[in-house]
Amino acid sequence: MIYQRSSALFAEAKNYIPGGVNSPVRAFKAVGGDPIFVKEAKGAYLYDEDGNRLIDYIASWGPLILGHAYEPVINAVIDKAKKGTSFGMPTEIETQLAQLALSMVPNIDKIRFVNSGTEACMSAVRLARGYTGKDKIIKFAGCYHGHSDSFLIQAGSGAVTFGSPNSPGVTQGTAKDTLLATYNDLDSVATLVAANKDEIAAIIIEPIAGNMGCIVPTEKFIQGLRNICTQEGILLIFDEVMTGFRLAKGGAQEVLDIKADIVTYGKVIGGGLPVGAFAAKAEIMDYLAPDGPVYQAGTLSGNPLAMSAGLAMLTALNDNPEVFTSLQEKAAYLHKGIAEVLTNKGVDHQINRFGSMISVHFTDEPVVDFSSSAKGNNETFKKYFHGMLNKGIYLPPSAFESYFLNDALSYADLDETINALKEIVL
Ligand code: PMP
Repeated sequence: MIYQRSSALFAEAKNYIPGGVNSPVRAFKAVGGDPIFVKEAKGAYLYDEDGNRLIDYIASWGPLILGHAYEPVINAVIDKAKKGTSFGMPTEIETQLAQLALSMVPNIDKIRFVNSGTEACMSAVRLARGYTGKDKIIKFAGCYHGHSDSFLIQAGSGAVTFGSPNSPGVTQGTAKDTLLATYNDLDSVATLVAANKDEIAAIIIEPIAGNMGCIVPTEKFIQGLRNICTQEGILLIFDEVMTGFRLAKGGAQEVLDIKADIVTYGKVIGGGLPVGAFAAKAEIMDYLAPDGPVYQAGTLSGNPLAMSAGLAMLTALNDNPEVFTSLQEKAAYLHKGIAEVLTNKGVDHQINRFGSMISVHFTDEPVVDFSSSAKGNNETFKKYFHGMLNKGIYLPPSAFESYFLNDALSYADLDETINALKEIVL
């Protein structure tokens, strides 16, 4: 396929926008080459600026679970836009989306809408600190919770003591309050908790991780985490920005049968418009301003266009819960197809999958945490990524990202994807 116009547009963008993009992973740094500039999309397909049709496995990094330009969402947004795009005043649709979201998810009484997953996680941590009166948090190496300062902490050999910033601009003062644990390793959590007795406000986790590929927690680990939090008076924050309204109506809390104390949302809840949210029992949520002391706000929070997209999306999922099974079956079909081809080619690989999240890792070791994910062979990944792209299959441009299936993908699309892989030399 030819991506000439995309390359020209990228070169032009770099003159005006840092790195040519407004979010780094879009620049294809991990895989090399120029990113694709998209012109429009419908259902499972992207149409780029060169006129290519690509089968999309990213779906805007998750939100478009029913495919691009899903009519009920588009129509809702158009209707709303004609009545004004923002008021900075309360609107009824905010309550409607809140009611629906709360009815779909177990264990939450109140929800506050923000504009992104980053804001949701940042605010959830502030709320946890305000509620518990404690400062420190535990996060897991390889989990991503947005780009706010407390979360930009990477693992190092000193992971069980203090975190160190992995982005210039994050102060040591902030970094010291973020402790790093290892995913699927309960001992790493217990050690930190013991060493920081009564100082930890919250443990935040992606209950199914999607930012080091797709990684599934063991039952022992996730249940153990819940137990530690309950015993120690620590709030368990499930970052369901990826998993919420994707794995099931009730997200990871439902499928894992674990209750979190605070849950964050993004992506699907906004139907492709900028929405994030955080939710908890009323006792915790009532700590927020204006009723409580913990401040949190937003000029465009609860924006009517964003709320109308979210309401149309959640209504569709609530009315058609078979979508979750359908997606899971498609992911299983893709998993089997890719595994067969890679096995026939004699390529070392691991495929991790949960619901409609799936990732392919070029390693012979099970991928259970960040360090095992990082062992994947990036040279093979690059060949895989570009080989597929040249066949019109758009995969995440980094081995650390999960694919997000959308229900507009047909079995013919999945077969086209598997057949494309057969033709690639890895
Ligand atoms: N949490 C998780 C689990 C995410 O995957 C992301 C984004 N990919 C975020 C938080 C941050 O969301 P946003 O990009 O909307 O700020």
